[in-house]
Amino acid sequence: MTTIKVTCPDCGDIDLQPTDLQLSVAPTWATYRFRCSECGEMVRKPADTEIVDLLSSAGVPTSVIPAEVLEVRSGPVISYDDVLDFALALRDESTLQRLLAEHQPAGGSQRKRRRLRW
Ligand SMILES: [Zn+2]
Repeated sequence: MTTIKVTCPDCGDIDLQPTDLQLSVAPTWATYRFRCSECGEMVRKPADTEIVDLLSSAGVPTSVIPAEVLEVRSGPVISYDDVLDFALALRDESTLQRLLAEHQPAGGSQRKRRRLRW
């Protein structure tokens, strides 16, 4: 069985099994975490590409964080009424085009309007 040597900041080197660790990989960063078997503290450390490859190949459970999770959100939260209005707008192409035209970002409106006419 594979043993992984990790370092707790308080206790030093400890040996863990792959299932004692958790690897999280996002598009721009990665971390691994484990609970120290000596002191019980949760330890989280950054993981570079080499560490990600080593931990993955050893069978450490991995969570892939999609890029959408890291997007900065702005504006009001979409409500049930908003979804209902959108569903109703889908029934009427002219209403849908008007609503989309009202919410287009500056600069890209001509291109998107042409696509809608197809
Ligand atoms: Zn410790």
